[in-house]
Amino acid sequence: MIDGLAGVKNSAGTIVFACSKCRTYPDHAYGAPNKDQLVYMLVCQKCGRTLGEWVSTEQREKELREFAKRVEPLT
Ligand SMILES: [Zn+2]
Repeated sequence: MIDGLAGVKNSAGTIVFACSKCRTYPDHAYGAPNKDQLVYMLVCQKCGRTLGEWVSTEQREKELREFAKRVEPLT
């Protein structure tokens, strides 16, 4: 699940992920929304918003890869 994540182009022309609100680069984090479920998250370092949440790293990598292909980079 991706929510509030944006893409920006770095100086090398590569898409990197950022918070769509503050354009801060997110941190990878772990969380447990339910007692027995560990999830992988992408969290904005500045506003603390959860930008993505996945049940496995495989799912995270797959979704982020697809997101990078279709995102319109912020300028
Ligand atoms: Zn933010």
